[in-house]
Amino acid sequence: MAFELMELPYAKNALEPYISKRTIDFHYGKHHKKYVDRVNKLIKGTPQESQSLEEIMYSTYKKNDKIYNNAAQIWNHTFYWNCLTPNGRAISNSVKNVIEKHFMSLQKFMALFTEQALELFGTGWTWLVIDKKGEIKIRAIEDAGNPLLEREVPLLTCDVWEHAYYLDYQNDRERYIENFWQIVNWEFVEENFGKTMEYPFRRTQSHEQGRPSPKRKEVRLF
Ligand code: MN
Repeated sequence: MAFELMELPYAKNALEPYISKRTIDFHYGKHHKKYVDRVNKLIKGTPQESQSLEEIMYSTYKKNDKIYNNAAQIWNHTFYWNCLTPNGRAISNSVKNVIEKHFMSLQKFMALFTEQALELFGTGWTWLVIDKKGEIKIRAIEDAGNPLLEREVPLLTCDVWEHAYYLDYQNDRERYIENFWQIVNWEFVEENFGKTMEYPFRRTQSHEQGRPSPKRKEVRLF
């Protein structure tokens, strides 16, 4: 079954002035769409044709870079658009408490996340994740990397490929990230804490299929 480009959860100009409609036109309308078109073309007639997006990522990781990279980029962009919102509410106390527990304060967390996003050399994504031990961590992953492959649960991401900010900010990645904080969808971040057991974490379609996810220390919000 062919994949479709997700619908944006807001209007293309809704993130202005932080992210322009022009950036969305290219980033979502051209880049993201191209990853979808490429995956559909590449998986035709392969075992991946009947797999979910996550299954495609697990089964092609380090085996078929072309399919993996395009599939992971669909996943990453879908997640990224959901991490943003024009109607951002303040971070809830429950998420704030967890962040404060792991990073001392919300400001400290934002500064560390920003630092990692700035230090990521070249293309990639900066993530907030729950790692295998149940710890909350910031991870900068190059290119089309995705925490699911490391059996980590993504909570938040920022796309730091140049195509995400160059039209609006040119080389000023720092200002892009500063403004990213203005439009973070904290409600989505909160929802992601509940997905700990939802991801199948299987590497191939036949192997491990149907088995329960590995036991993971729960990260409690309350
Ligand atoms: Mn992108």
